[in-house]
Amino acid sequence: MILQAYTCAAVVEPLLRLGVKPVYVDIDRESFGPDPDLIAEAVTSRTRAVIVQHTFGIPVPVEEIDVDVPIIEDCAHVTPGLIDTSRSAAAFYSFEWGKPVVAGIGGSAVVHDPELADVMWEHYARYTAPPESRELMTDAEYLAFRAADRAGVVWRMRSLYRQLSGMGLVVGSYAPDPRTSAEYGWRMSQGTRSRLAARIATGRAELKRRRELTDAYEIELHRVVPGVPLKFPAVVADKQEALLAAAAAGLELSDWFATPVHPLSGVDLARAGYVAGSCPNAEWAAAHVVTLPVRAATRRDSIGRAADLLAELRPVGAHA
Ligand SMILES: *Cc1c(COP(=O)(O)O)cnc(C)c1O
Repeated sequence: MILQAYTCAAVVEPLLRLGVKPVYVDIDRESFGPDPDLIAEAVTSRTRAVIVQHTFGIPVPVEEIDVDVPIIEDCAHVTPGLIDTSRSAAAFYSFEWGKPVVAGIGGSAVVHDPELADVMWEHYARYTAPPESRELMTDAEYLAFRAADRAGVVWRMRSLYRQLSGMGLVVGSYAPDPRTSAEYGWRMSQGTRSRLAARIATGRAELKRRRELTDAYEIELHRVVPGVPLKFPAVVADKQEALLAAAAAGLELSDWFATPVHPLSGVDLARAGYVAGSCPNAEWAAAHVVTLPVRAATRRDSIGRAADLLAELRPVGAHA
């Protein structure tokens, strides 16, 4: 399976579970998406499919990818309906806490290849509802998310959560071993399913506002970002310096993706089949790209403040 580096473990872990070998191609430093020519060059007789990820919601020109294997689009950063995926075999979306439409843990697939759709329905028929305790937990998490979202503190909670899960105090989203976890056989929870249509409608209604925020970022940060991104990327010389300065100023800035297969590093990254040095642009992006929020609730004045803060950091190209 071919996919770009500068991705997230959620994409790779199902492949490892299936015994499919991930083959990474590098990204472009402007779009953070894969180079269509590199994908075509990486295809061999053993390639089963290509996964193309619209990182930060920046659309990859899928029509330029000239391969004779199926393409699967990772639309986890895309508001459903915004990108036409009909040229591909399938596309998948996620509705958990960090995504453009949040309805609770779970995701959906849009399948255009009829044979693949049949196979997926067969699998789905074997899946079971999550246990009641998990249903209740998902609903509780969703209510907590909405309360934090209304208070504008989701990102603060997320960084706290990350620190706690880093210390092993709470179970992180990627904690279950993908090779043995029962969760892979669960259907979407009832609660998530019942919230989904209304949440997608809200997400679509917010697109105009989020594009206006993107326009403001483009002017302030001198970078053009097409589509309606989930996050607005900025390049910094020293990521830790930027993150610390933003935290001190009370500004939301995120370390995402922190590694070529986020958040894996060291032996875990190697276990995910990533060879150190193989995708230099992905490693560069992991070291130098920070992202800013593009949510409907993002305040216009925070964009100017963020731009001022980034301008005060050491210039890109400077070395320690
Ligand atoms: C979040 C995410 C997914 C899917 O995540 P789940 O948590 O498994 O729903 C897939 N790809 C990318 C790029 C993501 O950010």
